[in-house]
Amino acid sequence: MSTNGPNQTIGLTTISRTVASLAVGVVHTLERAMVGDGRMRTARGNAWEAVCADRARAEQRRELDRLVAELTAARAAARDRREVRHPQSGSLSTLQRYVGLHAPDAILLTHLHCDHMLDAVSYVVVRRYAPDGPYPPLPMYAPSGAPDRLAAAYGQEGSSVDDVYHFYGLQPGTFPIGPFTVTVDRMNHPVETYGVRLEHDGRVLCYSSDTAPCDSLLRLAQGADLFLCEASYLDGAENPPDLHLTGREAGEVATKAGAGRLLLTHLVAAWGSEAHTLESAAAAYTGPLEVVRAGACYDV
Ligand SMILES: [Zn+2]
Repeated sequence: MSTNGPNQTIGLTTISRTVASLAVGVVHTLERAMVGDGRMRTARGNAWEAVCADRARAEQRRELDRLVAELTAARAAARDRREVRHPQSGSLSTLQRYVGLHAPDAILLTHLHCDHMLDAVSYVVVRRYAPDGPYPPLPMYAPSGAPDRLAAAYGQEGSSVDDVYHFYGLQPGTFPIGPFTVTVDRMNHPVETYGVRLEHDGRVLCYSSDTAPCDSLLRLAQGADLFLCEASYLDGAENPPDLHLTGREAGEVATKAGAGRLLLTHLVAAWGSEAHTLESAAAAYTGPLEVVRAGACYDV
């Protein structure tokens, strides 16, 4: 598998910086209008100056934080050029940065929770209104109800996204997508959710999607060279049932399945601690293990 370098595009970063500098400019103009052009340095003027400086510094800090977050997200870009995308939140910017907005050959939605589908809504604009578009409909493998959910999220009365996606309803089973042999099965999650096993050229990638422990996940992960598994919950906490895995549970599945490598994803900072999750996974799985870093490249 391989990734490309960053695209030479004007991205959100550039736009955001422009907006930030415009905002600072507006504040300074407002200050000049209120206190004159600098000869009367009143307490009010000085206060404004301090406010403006604080705002500028805060904006710089926000911009820095945002850039760090963007870089972190971008490291999730390790995907084959023959892409089957799972458009988790943030994946669109990653796609643009590393591979190209029109690189995907297909999209697979594991379930219709918002954090796993909304980038596919934004992607409608990319394909439908491209200057050299519209692009031909893209195969979209998704749970039942996806056409209506995506159209509703797109947000226009009576809108449809059928011109952008050709929908294929997921059901447990095995089918081809391009060069990949794809097996999906239902997970233990409150909505119709599919874990995915992707096979190509004797190598296997398994992705848990969102799930609590279940036998079907163990089957999908059997012998996987790379097991990308969610670990949302903190081990030892009072976690709701039938929703997500802890690091320990992810490690247990990896061990039982004989997975060659375990990558933990979907850690929710507000619910736990990365170090704790990693530690509890390592207690249950002795193979290569790490928490995924956006923008990192993982060979299968
Ligand atoms: Zn979910």
